[in-house]
Amino acid sequence: MVKKIVKTAKKAVKKDMHDVVIIGGGPAGLMAACQAGEGGQKVLLIEKNDELGKKLLISGGGRCNLTNANPNHREFVSKFGKKGSFLFSPFSVFGVQDTIKFFNDLGLKTKTEAGFRVFPESDNSADVLNVLVNRATELGVKFMLSTEVASLKADKKGKKITAVILKSGEEIMAQKFILTTGGMSHQETGSTGDGFKWLKEIGHKVAESNPSLVPIKISNPWVSELAGISLDNVGISVWQNKDGGFQKALTKKGRILFTHDGLSGPTILNMSKSIGELLEYGETLLSLDFFAGFGLDQMHEMMKKVFDEHINKKIKNLSFKEVPGKIFALILKQLEIDLEWEINEIRREERFALIEKFKKFEMTVAGLLGYDKAIISSGGLNLDEVDFKTMGSKLYSNLYFAGDILDFDRPSGGFSLQLCWTTGYIAGKN
Ligand SMILES: Cc1cc2nc3c(=O)[nH]c(=O)nc-3n(C[C@H](O)[C@H](O)[C@H](O)COP(=O)(O)OP(=O)(O)OC[C@H]3O[C@@H](n4cnc5c(N)ncnc54)[C@H](O)[C@@H]3O)c2cc1C
Repeated sequence: MVKKIVKTAKKAVKKDMHDVVIIGGGPAGLMAACQAGEGGQKVLLIEKNDELGKKLLISGGGRCNLTNANPNHREFVSKFGKKGSFLFSPFSVFGVQDTIKFFNDLGLKTKTEAGFRVFPESDNSADVLNVLVNRATELGVKFMLSTEVASLKADKKGKKITAVILKSGEEIMAQKFILTTGGMSHQETGSTGDGFKWLKEIGHKVAESNPSLVPIKISNPWVSELAGISLDNVGISVWQNKDGGFQKALTKKGRILFTHDGLSGPTILNMSKSIGELLEYGETLLSLDFFAGFGLDQMHEMMKKVFDEHINKKIKNLSFKEVPGKIFALILKQLEIDLEWEINEIRREERFALIEKFKKFEMTVAGLLGYDKAIISSGGLNLDEVDFKTMGSKLYSNLYFAGDILDFDRPSGGFSLQLCWTTGYIAGKN
């Protein structure tokens, strides 16, 4: 369906004079195209891939977590950290409810899941893309696919962008330009940081990019044996080696997923930036608390009760809903407790050691995975150089921005796409 729409829209449009040229056909570019088109502008969207919205299609595991419907506005904005203050005004112009209404009005039914995460009812990200492409096409937006932009032509004295220069050497002129080339994560989708390079060339400040919202690598070889295990409500602590001793630097509770080389899952992704920063200063450990709701006294009480009740059972036959069998077996191995031992053979100190492992299951952090596994990249266009009333450049009067190109931190949970919808809406309207 998406391919069909895109093929129909793929026309030779180079010769026309455009009011607005948008570079990048991801969610931010498509939202901007819809809004500029709605305002009666003659819009051309240039995309280097042969299809639109490649990253949008893989978002949310193909389900597309398109926004986050947290009703607490302040809490919502706080997810963007200190820089969230730039977003108070944009979100008041086009916020979460406006986004949901926008999609609902165009026929996309949505549903809200745990953590206020909003998905299309169909669980299919292609439906989100279809809505945007259909709407833009309906409004007369022209698409140039398989067309790579090489740079921006700037008149620095006149403070204007005069054209975009294609890789073919051809120049495309317009009254206004919207830059929505995205960040640097999952580069196979087309987001290769081209916009950052052009912005630097024309004098904008761009903060260095790094993989963000990214799984972490664990150096303990046994981690691969646990791949695929996912756990909810587990306590996660990160420890840093300071003056020869490990000190707790971060703690969170949430969902994790063991991968072949480490850990992923929403809580780990959200902690990855801070973990990356800690790694720069030295050795970093991570520990899991499988019984995060239990104090130590409660743990001792609970374990004594379990041991007393199963006194003649083999330890390997004990099971805890909080600790998957594979992890339990691994812990017993680490403590040199034979799987064939009966509970009555286990000494008090060994029971205490078991409790300690349940509360502090340690591993060594080797590093963060790369852009190919990251949801977003950190860094981007310096926000002080953007007028958030229009999403316009403070250096060039006819240049606008939206989406991942902007230097915002945010967690997973629909916040990245909401940033695209809001900034794309404002850029397109202006
Ligand atoms: C695996 C994965 C899952 C995700 N899941 C979610 C989720 O569920 N919820 C959420 O909120 N966020 C999610 N995100 C993040 C979200 O997808 C991004 O924030 C969003 O796609 C950014 O949109 P954008 O339009 O700014 O940029 P992009 O989507 O990166 O689009 C930029 C476009 O510009 C084009 N382009 C780049 N350079 C050029 C050039 N030189 N010439 C022409 N075209 C060019 C690219 O080809 C690309 O199509 C996920 C990301 C990944 C990688």
